[in-house]
Amino acid sequence: MTEIQIAQSVTPKHIKEIAAKLGIPEEKLEYYGNDKAKIPLAIIDDEKVKESNLILVTAITPTPPGEGKTTTSIGLADALNILKKKAVAVIREPSLGPVFGIKGGAAGGGWSQVIPMVDINLHFTGDFHAIEKANNLLSALIENNIQSKSRSLGIDPRTVVWKRCMDMNDRGLRNIVAALGGKAGGVPRETGFNITAASEIMAILCMASDLEDLKERCGNIYVGDTWDGKAVFAKDLNAEGAMAVLLKDAIKPNLVQTLEGNPAIIHGGPFANIAQGTNSILATKMGMTLSDFTITEAGFGSDLGAEKFMNIKCRAAGISPKTIVLVATIRALKYHGGKSLKEITQEDVEALKKGLPNLEGHIASLKSFGIPIVVSINAFKSDTEAEIQVVEDHCKKLGVPVALSYGWEKGGNGCLALAGEVIKATNSCTDEFHPTYSLDDNVQTKLEKICKTIYGGENVVLSDIAKSQLRKYEAMGYGNLPVCMAKTEKSFSDDQKRLGRPEHFDIHIREFEIATGAGFIVPIAGNMLRMPGLPATPAAEMITIDKDGTIEGLF
Ligand code: ADP
Ligand code: MG
Repeated sequence: MTEIQIAQSVTPKHIKEIAAKLGIPEEKLEYYGNDKAKIPLAIIDDEKVKESNLILVTAITPTPPGEGKTTTSIGLADALNILKKKAVAVIREPSLGPVFGIKGGAAGGGWSQVIPMVDINLHFTGDFHAIEKANNLLSALIENNIQSKSRSLGIDPRTVVWKRCMDMNDRGLRNIVAALGGKAGGVPRETGFNITAASEIMAILCMASDLEDLKERCGNIYVGDTWDGKAVFAKDLNAEGAMAVLLKDAIKPNLVQTLEGNPAIIHGGPFANIAQGTNSILATKMGMTLSDFTITEAGFGSDLGAEKFMNIKCRAAGISPKTIVLVATIRALKYHGGKSLKEITQEDVEALKKGLPNLEGHIASLKSFGIPIVVSINAFKSDTEAEIQVVEDHCKKLGVPVALSYGWEKGGNGCLALAGEVIKATNSCTDEFHPTYSLDDNVQTKLEKICKTIYGGENVVLSDIAKSQLRKYEAMGYGNLPVCMAKTEKSFSDDQKRLGRPEHFDIHIREFEIATGAGFIVPIAGNMLRMPGLPATPAAEMITIDKDGTIEGLF
């Protein structure tokens, strides 16, 4: 069966039954059909958050389709429920970019999925659309102010850094000239689009502590400068109120269910390579309020998702995971050991052994946080016993607990061993995480600490443009913000060709962007793009619907 056939073979329970499992009163739910609902923020209870166990699921350096973090998160939550623990998976909302691009959706896989899978992967409850609208409202207000004579703030159009956004991998919008068409069309200038998942509004939604905070953060967005060099913020355009109105529902976490009828919360969807890579703080706190185990995923490998999860999200939210699950696959390890993507389903113990340093690198960087680690081998049909043995033995040698997980093939029952290890690790956790850097470190020091401790690299080299941008942002008083690295997900380094565990490399920062609303500085390493393009053969070409509404090709 394909992913979508599995997803559609299960009839979802009414969402009020799922809410009841979490103890949410029926009348508090805001229904989006029968199988989706929003949960009001008032339910979040910080006392309960403190007592709950947060589990972070991260991964080794992934191959393009992903190594199974979402699948594992859902399987683990189902397994904990089988073991009579109150557990909820809290994950990100998929972006249409990957859905129609190369990676596919983000609703899990096989028998560890969240449903309604099609809705979740498409328009869901409209959060992405609301984010896009709030983003583009600000663009419209900027354009209008540049045009205005009577109410002009004197914005120098050439300095406007705020871009429009759209949730699509449309390379043609990456760099554009806007405001053409004569006097009434505005003042022509170079600009561009970010993908919605990389927009600052997405980041703000995921960092906000409530609606008031969201509004304030929207007001704090840096837009550009006036002709005499004064910084202009969204609040100078009186934008934040209307932006917050557009986001009033999007800020509320969404409740859905796993194929096994357990609760799952899905909310916010920043990418991990070009944004902070983790669902909203509010959704995580909602999960922690309502359950004893909250299983959450941070995108791509631990060098991106886990690093930002800790240093940005957990630090801001005042929360700390009790266990980190590191997902590894035999396939990806063979890839890191030199096999091509086409060959990774063939048995090759030697290539696998050559790929193990990648796993070691992730274990080493995760150890720096001081939180117990469990390796979960996400089992694929192509894995052989000899290969599995090699990875298990290696983890034992490194002193890290390891579990073989069959969430994709068997759902919760396939993740019972992992759940057992996670419970043990969680019980052994006595400390809060240690951040990689202090907020008081200057930006260069923060970057160097991430580079050395997390990536295993050497120096951080700034381009001339990056240097002058950093000087400007530090002078504006933003040097104490955390950094949200934009770096390739394909390597610990900023060179996507360097697989495995590269050594002796520098990280090159091409530019800095500043997200003063979200509250971080974004260093852009290598040639990262905040508006991706589609691959040569996009998934979109395989997706279709028939006259009865049956959809094929979504995965
Ligand atoms: P991540 O969250 O790490 O990006 P996903 O859980 O989304 O990874 O999985 C990526 C893709 O791989 C999905 O299409 C999923 O169905 C598939 N997949 C995951 N685990 C397995 C497995 N054990 N066997 C086969 N396919 C899998
Ligand atoms: Mg995922």
